[in-house]
Amino acid sequence: MTQATQVHAPGTQTTAATFTSLICKECGAEYEPKASHVCEFCFGPLELGYDYDALRRHVTRESISAGPNSIWRYRPFLPVATDSPIDVGTGMTPLVRSHRLARRLGLKKLYIKNDAVNMPTLSFKDRVVSVALTRAKELGFTTVSCASTGNLANSTAAIAAHAGLDCCVFIPADLEAGKVLGTLIYSPTVIAVQGNYDQVNRLCCEVANTHGWGFVNINLRPYYSEGSKTLGYEVAEQLGWQLPDHIVAPLASGSLFTKIYKGFQEFIKVGLVDEKNVRFSGAQADGCSPIAAAFREGRDFVMPVKPNTIAKSIAIGNPADGIYALDVARKTGGNIESVCDAEIIEGMKLLAETEGIFTETAGGTTIAVLKKLVESGKIDPEESTVVYITGNGLKTQEAVHGYIGEPLTIEPKLDSFERALDRSRTLDRLEWQQVLV
Ligand SMILES: *Cc1c(COP(=O)(O)O)cnc(C)c1O
Repeated sequence: MTQATQVHAPGTQTTAATFTSLICKECGAEYEPKASHVCEFCFGPLELGYDYDALRRHVTRESISAGPNSIWRYRPFLPVATDSPIDVGTGMTPLVRSHRLARRLGLKKLYIKNDAVNMPTLSFKDRVVSVALTRAKELGFTTVSCASTGNLANSTAAIAAHAGLDCCVFIPADLEAGKVLGTLIYSPTVIAVQGNYDQVNRLCCEVANTHGWGFVNINLRPYYSEGSKTLGYEVAEQLGWQLPDHIVAPLASGSLFTKIYKGFQEFIKVGLVDEKNVRFSGAQADGCSPIAAAFREGRDFVMPVKPNTIAKSIAIGNPADGIYALDVARKTGGNIESVCDAEIIEGMKLLAETEGIFTETAGGTTIAVLKKLVESGKIDPEESTVVYITGNGLKTQEAVHGYIGEPLTIEPKLDSFERALDRSRTLDRLEWQQVLV
């Protein structure tokens, strides 16, 4: 057993590094920042620690604004030492002020953080993978891998291709076609496992031990998960260096949720924003809602479930950071709610119709939960609220097949067009009459 001390030997890191060590979230034991994710003493998860005094002295709003137009403008808050990270334009996605969705829901100040257009693979996972693969290179890995619910495989394969790393990804065999294709195009090795995500993940833990690969969400997980903090930093900066009153975000492993919280706390700690209690509310699908169930029942442990929902990208039945997500929701005065598959589809349509944003099932889940929280009085209409949209609808097209109507097919003639238009208006009226009956 290695001694849990001696952070970094002199000369092993450049002066650019502001992270210090891996720290056990449970017992506080410290380790060198290598490829490792569990405490050798208590098996708690490891998390990065930073020299916040140095950050307070050296980082200003101006120094951040002068940085690249990507997550790397926050490099001092990320666990990499290099000054030339893998930068494929990840991050700095739009924070859209919502008018039509806000009015529909009865909210005064609603913002949409739109990671459906993140680069390069249209989901928030590009953030975590950019950080994980930059660190993987620093640690000397030449093959990178992941256990994925879909989006992570897309990101890992794309960014590995860009960085010239060998790549082998593991996915459940029943993923949406768009997610499989969106991985294969980068020519990694793709392993489709006949089982659910939790079984894929267990298999990958064994492979990580035998093959010496860098698994972004296993042995590199402490580095990977820090990438999600940028979702907090960007919102703070885009709101004019202020924090919102309330955020709503989806929960799979619970990591993203807890890291947005860590991001806000760090900005407060180093004086980039004023102190404020931001309420954190989380979204799950009924068919995989172990964290929402624990929240509702007032438990402080999460009971694993077998997922069964169209929201596959957030279908993790045994969430690694579930208890930490529960803690964040409770201590900030937020909530964790779940919605059924029909509400998820309605959520996707509602966001598309009101804001022109086509999100995937995870985003439909988040919008449906936002609606539920407003309707049940758990979000105050006066609160400034940020809803996180984490993935793109073009990747989960099968979810909305049969729910979005059909094009009006016509002959290439004006009268054919006029007849079709009449027909569609009559149909619209009939639909309205049915609603009114
Ligand atoms: C992975 C994923 C999440 C949630 O990730 P966790 O950090 O594991 O909670 C949310 N939305 C989408 C689209 C994802 O792919």
